[in-house]
Amino acid sequence: MVPALRYIRGACGPALGGFPGGFSSAGRPAPGRSWPLCQGGRPASTRSFDVVVIGGGIVGLASARALILRHPALSIGVLEKEKDLAIHQTGHNSGVIHSGIYYKPESLKAKLCVQGAALIYEYCKQKGISYKQCGKLIVAVEQEEIPRLQALYERGRQNGVQGLRLIQQEDIKKKEPYCRGLMAIDCPYTGIVDYRQVALSFAKDFQEAGGFVLTNFEVKDIELAKENPSRSKDGMKYPIVIRNTKGEEVQCQYVVTCAGLYSDRISELSGCNPDPRIVPFRGDYLILKPEKCYLVKGNIYPVPDSRFPFLGVHFTPRMDGSIWLGPNAVLAFKREGYRPFDFSARDIMDVIIKRGPAGVRAQALDRDGNLVEDFVFDGGVGDIGNRILHVRNAPSPAATSSLAISGMIADEVQQRFKL
Ligand SMILES: Cc1cc2nc3c(=O)[nH]c(=O)nc-3n(C[C@H](O)[C@H](O)[C@H](O)COP(=O)(O)OP(=O)(O)OC[C@H]3O[C@@H](n4cnc5c(N)ncnc54)[C@H](O)[C@@H]3O)c2cc1C
Repeated sequence: MVPALRYIRGACGPALGGFPGGFSSAGRPAPGRSWPLCQGGRPASTRSFDVVVIGGGIVGLASARALILRHPALSIGVLEKEKDLAIHQTGHNSGVIHSGIYYKPESLKAKLCVQGAALIYEYCKQKGISYKQCGKLIVAVEQEEIPRLQALYERGRQNGVQGLRLIQQEDIKKKEPYCRGLMAIDCPYTGIVDYRQVALSFAKDFQEAGGFVLTNFEVKDIELAKENPSRSKDGMKYPIVIRNTKGEEVQCQYVVTCAGLYSDRISELSGCNPDPRIVPFRGDYLILKPEKCYLVKGNIYPVPDSRFPFLGVHFTPRMDGSIWLGPNAVLAFKREGYRPFDFSARDIMDVIIKRGPAGVRAQALDRDGNLVEDFVFDGGVGDIGNRILHVRNAPSPAATSSLAISGMIADEVQQRFKL
């Protein structure tokens, strides 16, 4: 059984605790009000939308695209605080198309990664976006890692990952001549792509289908519109007002938030649940010098250690032919801080490696301080909360899973908001 969307019990505004079931009243207007859905095509101005998506990363753009393809008559806007799209997590990652091997069977991550990888390959083929299905080895170098490697292999098979094999030393050498290991999982389905390019292509599809992208729009407030009968004789058509840091506004009926490193803050400012909180983890990469790139053919990963979050430092080929090593995981001092405060890896940088870029992961933490493993989607209750769907935790492999996540969000928006 695949789980449904995972919601945290809604916690918006005055209805806190008084509305079991979170989303159950979504789409219903407040007593005495009527908020009909605008089915009449594009708005006269780009400032009023049926649906607004906050966040122009790969998850927001994929979701906006899925929504407009499914509901071409609706006006849909994407609000992004930067002047360019997809420059945070989406533009700072390993670029791996994950196969789905790692994730707990039946979890959203397992399901959406396996589906999402297939969809990303198909999408890239359709759009002529370069990718390489270069495969991956997960290598055990110590005897004690072998039981964990075998368990991971079984998990991958349970998740339906294609083509998995357990291979021994000789076969590791055939695949990766410079890699030493006792046993490995050979995962030929893993690939690489430039996710920013994919995200920008989603944005293009969205705009070509009639969607609006507003950049330089940093959302600062989300609130209910004051009564304004002149807007519509049936009441307020666009009851939610979203204001940016410059005091500009858009109005809309429904909101989907995909704010990555700021997903907790956006939820909080809409009056919804501040938990789970986001903890930023910076990951630094090293880059192999070009003359040493022959050392690595495909992705090479360690056996993950459950005592640590994330998948471990790995070698990853990039679409430009370079080879990255990383990312490590250190608590970041700033959500979008890509420069290390103190870089301690200097000693290990010899002639084959130079320092590379960094990324910051948005990782959700629950109230007890535990890392939240699965993807989390959240709604709320009350006048605003009933009209919002928040993407609260979309760490790796959310880039791989973006098209699958977007399908799920479109289903949920359609059902909850009765589109
Ligand atoms: C180091 C690293 C390595 C990774 N490797 C992989 C990998 O190999 N494969 C994989 O599948 N995934 C990987 N991931 C995970 C993947 O990159 C993310 O899961 C994915 O990019 C999340 O996309 P997003 O749209 O949710 O977030 P983002 O790309 O961060 O987008 C969020 C957007 O919201 C905007 N925003 C925030 N606040 C506001 C506001 N107030 N108003 C308006 N806009 C706002 C931001 O500016 C940003 O553009 C990695 C991540 C990192 C950091």
